[in-house]
Amino acid sequence: MPKPSSSSSQPRSRNYDVVVIGGGAAGIIAAWRSAQLGAKTLLIEKTCRLGTKILISGGGKCNIAHAGPIEDILKAFRPNEARFIRPAVYRFPNVEIMRMFTDRGLRIYTRPDGRVFPVDQTAKDVVAILKNYLFATGVEVWMNTPVEEIARAENGFQITLGEPFESSKGYAQDRKPKVAFGAKALLNEVRSNEVDDDRGHGPGVIQAERVVLATGGSSYPNSGTTGDGWPWAKQLGHTLEWIHAALAPIYLELDPFDPARSGVALRDVIVKAKADKKEIARWRNDMLFTHQGVSGPTILGISRLVAEAMPTSPVTLSVDLFPELDQEKLIERFVTDGKQSPKRQVATPLEERLPESIVPSLCADAGVDPATALGQLEKKARNRLVETLKNWPLGTVRTVSLEKGEVVAGGVKLDEVDPQTMRSLVQPGLYLCGEILDVAGPVGGYNLQAAFATGFVAGETAAKDSLEANEALAGSITGKR
Ligand SMILES: Cc1cc2nc3c(=O)[nH]c(=O)nc-3n(C[C@H](O)[C@H](O)[C@H](O)COP(=O)(O)OP(=O)(O)OC[C@H]3O[C@@H](n4cnc5c(N)ncnc54)[C@H](O)[C@@H]3O)c2cc1C
Repeated sequence: MPKPSSSSSQPRSRNYDVVVIGGGAAGIIAAWRSAQLGAKTLLIEKTCRLGTKILISGGGKCNIAHAGPIEDILKAFRPNEARFIRPAVYRFPNVEIMRMFTDRGLRIYTRPDGRVFPVDQTAKDVVAILKNYLFATGVEVWMNTPVEEIARAENGFQITLGEPFESSKGYAQDRKPKVAFGAKALLNEVRSNEVDDDRGHGPGVIQAERVVLATGGSSYPNSGTTGDGWPWAKQLGHTLEWIHAALAPIYLELDPFDPARSGVALRDVIVKAKADKKEIARWRNDMLFTHQGVSGPTILGISRLVAEAMPTSPVTLSVDLFPELDQEKLIERFVTDGKQSPKRQVATPLEERLPESIVPSLCADAGVDPATALGQLEKKARNRLVETLKNWPLGTVRTVSLEKGEVVAGGVKLDEVDPQTMRSLVQPGLYLCGEILDVAGPVGGYNLQAAFATGFVAGETAAKDSLEANEALAGSITGKR
């Protein structure tokens, strides 16, 4: 990647047909597709790495897509989001995404739930393949080059580049290993590894007739996605839908905090959220107690609805610890157990199904001594215990973490972007793709799929528009001669 000879703040001449801002899933695919069609393409990335969020996705394995019929995939999104992404998801469907990777040697498999993962490789291999596509098609990549502003210029846009990001903002210095778990640990690891390229190309100003905005959302801001594209889009005339957490852990009002619970996982439970005594969300899967509240698939699944209810009403969570049995069947089971094994303690059957460490507090909440013999369990106590097992209160929601979410909901209003082309309907020459848009799917490979598909269409349209304009210009020059 050659470094430009000057970094003056004078606008540099237009050397590129398409400039893509943001080297994540959407931007990489947009740049690749644009270059593949013959457009001279520049990809500008703020950090020293491409695809950081891909590297930390799916626990470092990367759930690249969701298999199955496209109509089923669309059903996983909210109806307006599904309508919007439909043309892109048909244009660059899951099978094409998978082929793109398998063609370059990635072995993939589909889990029974439809999630597609690499077999023995990891997210690093996924990103390596994407980089390979970029370089094979001749995309020029400027790393460590934060875009600071985009303004309308006479023939397109003026893009202001800032100082190299990682050295100027303490990002690089922050790369020491820290004690962390899950995605945070992965991100620390990614950031302590070798960089792709740390030569910045700013400060300065460049001109571009066509710009693809692919700066992502604002969760995990240490990855480089800090919502930078939204104020630019707004300034260029777009409307922003309220940005809020989705697929995120939930922090609870924990008073008193029970340290014994932190790290405890509950398998196959139903978590329910209530606002104003009305159930607003429920999700069946696993749940994890954290030191600030709760997380895990059930919590990510309900988090967006909880975040949306929070501004108008307090939200409380409860968990059904025995979803396989309704209340009556569970009562029956305690009655039968009491007859068959009258001397067994109440705690024993609970410990067979649940982590031992939560049984004492569960029994305390039900007002039942865990040492009570099942044969001695009175009807009232049994009913209280069953009620607690089916509706164990977890607490009141303090906040849904925007920063720790896998995606954010909200972003550039979908009505202002053409779903067939990803062209901005507000600014000619502007294209938008990926998480900057108001689209947020559930866990399962849906979000990367949406980013890849909208990126593909944005890159394709920007390239075609540019090539057509170049041809028209060449034609008019020849005609004049
Ligand atoms: C922990 C975690 C796990 C996930 N797991 C999965 C999964 O397994 N499957 C799945 O489908 N989805 C997963 N997701 C969601 C998925 O990663 C995102 O939806 C997807 O990466 C969005 O792609 P994007 O290109 O729009 O944005 P991003 O991937 O966020 O890319 C945006 C890029 O723009 C760059 N940028 C930002 N501002 C500027 C600027 N000013 N100048 C230049 N560049 C800039 C950023 O540095 C970044 O590289 C996960 C997300 C997280 C956080």
